[in-house]
Amino acid sequence: MKIFKDKHTLQKEISKTKGISFVPTMGGLHKGHISLIKRSKKNKFKTLVSIFVNPTQFNKKKDFRSYPRSTKKDLKKLKKLKVNYLYMPTFKDIYGFKPKEKVFLDKFSKKLCGKFRKGHFEGVLNVVNRFLEIIKPRYIFLGKKDYQQLYLIKKHIEKRKIKSKIIVCKTIRENNGVALSTRNSNLNDNQIKIASNIYYYLYKLKKRIKKNYNLFNLNRIKRDLRDLGANKIDYLENYNTKNFKKVKRQSKKFNIFIAYYIKNIRLIDNI
Ligand code: AMP
Repeated sequence: MKIFKDKHTLQKEISKTKGISFVPTMGGLHKGHISLIKRSKKNKFKTLVSIFVNPTQFNKKKDFRSYPRSTKKDLKKLKKLKVNYLYMPTFKDIYGFKPKEKVFLDKFSKKLCGKFRKGHFEGVLNVVNRFLEIIKPRYIFLGKKDYQQLYLIKKHIEKRKIKSKIIVCKTIRENNGVALSTRNSNLNDNQIKIASNIYYYLYKLKKRIKKNYNLFNLNRIKRDLRDLGANKIDYLENYNTKNFKKVKRQSKKFNIFIAYYIKNIRLIDNI
């Protein structure tokens, strides 16, 4: 595995290849990231993983500083997976140039996480736009775990006619139902149990409201979630996952989107 910290050396190297399969991450690698990398390795292009904890997408400095980092362990995992390239840029390498394309931010960026994390998606799209310009990947692998992010990146790529194709990857969960997330390393056993119970509650709820939407009583659901151990619920909303129209009545194709806190740890999921 070749490791790059500088975009020019990276670009020189990848210009020799037929194309790149790109897996962007913020490190703290887990089975979710690994599934994206394994999927990428199945195609004929070389796999490039990036690790960059992007400060511009954190709305609180403290959250950026406390975001779990595990570079040594990450390197081991990536080498074992026989990843071709690892790009670990500095802040200056990413933000020290003016990109050709302007970021397109779809209006859906104002909903869900966009409402509660001011500037978050501006930061995500800004960094993704820069990565796309530096790497010009054939494919970019993104997880459904961050569905809103995935949708907004898709809209940006379409609008700006960028040639990279998104490969959508399913959410990987622990046996207890909890979606893998770098932030889970901050949870203790009891808090993981809470997250697991919340997952199963929402999983069953979805089945029930598919049959009878009148059972979607938001106040009652929020009360139940608090009883299960959620300390604060930022949002709990149903959206059609194709067009991101809000679901208000009987429907088959929707996910429950949630962001909630266990103590001060914010978790998101869509089920
Ligand atoms: P992150 O490092 O959290 O920015 O995530 C990097 C990529 O991994 C994003 O495309 C995420 O959607 C994806 N990802 C994160 N967690 C999971 C998961 N549990 N299953 C599948 N993909 C995931």
